[in-house]
Order: sequence, then structure tokens, then C-alpha cells
Amino acid sequence: MLKVASLGSGSKGNATLIATEKATVMVDCGFTLKETLKRLERLEVAPSSVDAILVTHEHQDHISGVGPLSRKFDIPVWSTKGSLLSGKCGKLKNYSIIEGFQGFEIGDIDILPISVPHDAREPCQYLFSAHQKRLAVLTDLGSYTPEIVETLQDCHGLLLECNHDEEMLWNGPYPYSLKQRVGGPLGHMSNNQAIKLLQQVISQNLELLIASHISEQNNCPDLVKKTVAEAAGWPPERVFIAEQDEGFGWFELTKN
Ligand SMILES: [Zn+2]
Ligand SMILES: [Zn+2]
Repeated sequence: MLKVASLGSGSKGNATLIATEKATVMVDCGFTLKETLKRLERLEVAPSSVDAILVTHEHQDHISGVGPLSRKFDIPVWSTKGSLLSGKCGKLKNYSIIEGFQGFEIGDIDILPISVPHDAREPCQYLFSAHQKRLAVLTDLGSYTPEIVETLQDCHGLLLECNHDEEMLWNGPYPYSLKQRVGGPLGHMSNNQAIKLLQQVISQNLELLIASHISEQNNCPDLVKKTVAEAAGWPPERVFIAEQDEGFGWFELTKN
């Protein structure tokens, strides 16, 4: 069994949990310590049971809580050199350096960092494999590469960034420079980009699809559900949304 839950997702903070019966890892922590503990409690996870924090990149909404949580509960941090050198984690007692597409293990979970195009020093996202299930967590990428498409083939669960609707972004209130950043190849995935990627990786295996890192200004959850479901050939209620405040509760990948 491989399961996933979210403490919250969006530009105000991100943290995702991936767990088996034996191991629990957290991807990013972009919340204050107090907020993180509150959200962990909601998911019935004791902070001391988290075996590792994996960093995707050094933007505040992903890293601001990593140092405090790691220090308070002595949780080891795994990060690329670039993200670590940003200094945003503060002093860490317990950390390991990882590299894009170089796999490692935490307990019974195999983890592959996926290098992604994003405007950070050495950003990566992650593919998790355990008990014949593969789950990818993919946020904060402005475009996708052939390596990403190849890595995501046949996965069973996919957390996919659907940041903005292109029309809403370009007609919206952001300053032009910010529109260019968000909509550019090192920014964030639009709904359109997300479904193009989805269509290249979807297979019979896919049982869980969660849209994440949705912009509050430039997107709308119902539009995301409809667009992604249509691309997957699924009914809209089969597509889930990772919300900023609520995240989402535990989903298990169990289908054989
Ligand atoms: Zn982000
Ligand atoms: Zn980012």
C-alpha cells in the first residue's frame, strides 16, 4: 500500500505526505511550525513519525517550515545541493544531498528526484515507488521535458500542477512581469500544459489524479476538474483538488 495526503497546496504553502505501513515522508514544508503541527494533527500524523523531509526547491511556499520542523523533531532533510545552498533551511543537523534522476530509499519507499524547469537553483520533484505502486508529485514546473514524460509513464497516482488558466492569467490583475514569470518556461504549469502532459503519460494504471498548486487569482477549481477530467476521459468527480487551506485527506493506491 502506498498512500498520499496533503497539508495544503498553493502559493501560500505546500506540504505533501507519502506513506506506507513502514515509512512516512514529507515533500516540502511551506507552513509555519505551528500551522504544520495543526495540519499534521488533522491527518492524524505525529510529527515524530515523519522519517524524512524532501525539499523540491527553495521558494518560500515550499521551504519556509523545513528548517524549524527538522530541528524541532530531528527529522532528516533530503535536498539537492542547489536548494540547500540557498540557505533557506537555516542550520540543519541532519541532511543528505540528492541529485536529479539519482534514486534513493527511505524505508520501503524508492524515491526518484525528477529535475524540472523552474526558476530556482536546482529544483526537482519526486516519483515514489513501493509495493508495485508508483506515485508522482509534480508541482512548480514551467514546462516539461522528455525525461519527465518518460519518468511518469504508467504511474498509478499523479499529483499534477494545474497552476493557471492561460486566459485568466494574461487577462488578470498580475503585473506584466509577473505574468511573464508565471506563464514562462521556468514558471508554473497552466491547465493546458498539464493536460498535454497528462495525455502523454496516462495509462490503464492511473487510478488517482489530483490537481495541485492551483492559483487563487488565475484559476478556478471547477474549471480544473472539468478540463483535467475531460483530458483523462474520466468523470469530473474522479479528479481531486489539493486545496490551499484543506489540502486533502489520505488516498490509498490499492487497485490491482
Ligand atoms: Zn510553489
Ligand atoms: Zn516555486
